[in-house]
Amino acid sequence: MTFPELVVFDLDFTLWDCGGTWCDCLRPPFLKKEGQFFDSDGRHLTLYSDVLAILDDVDDLGLPMALASRTERPDWARELLKLFGIQDRFPYQEIYPGSKVKHLKKISDLSRVPLDKMLFFDDEHRNLADLRPYGVRCQHVASGMSEELFSEGLELFA
Ligand SMILES: [Mg+2]
Repeated sequence: MTFPELVVFDLDFTLWDCGGTWCDCLRPPFLKKEGQFFDSDGRHLTLYSDVLAILDDVDDLGLPMALASRTERPDWARELLKLFGIQDRFPYQEIYPGSKVKHLKKISDLSRVPLDKMLFFDDEHRNLADLRPYGVRCQHVASGMSEELFSEGLELFA
């Protein structure tokens, strides 16, 4: 089996759910209550339940991980990464508005991994459509990352 050389994740609705909205629509400050995270309007902020296990799986495969997010509030996104304790899991973090072609080209420049060796997970079809012409293997995420979707993504390289 062939493997990707790098795995890229979107944030909103891929790794996390910010109470049914995007993280740039939240209202800080973010609060911790009984081990759970909320924004100031009471929205419940969570990683999808399989995410930590998936990150461990990618580590076990020895593959580097990257983030590509087009959020309007990179500062809030970084704060959430810290809250969830996963800020150090991704050596490449491209978080700013715009087409994700820019994000993944930058990740490719920094990592020296060609675009056609990357596996990309995102819930928005427009981002996948932007990147497929560059040879990026794209896995659509319908309702948050799951172990099953991760396996399906790997199959794109089989
Ligand atoms: Mg998203």
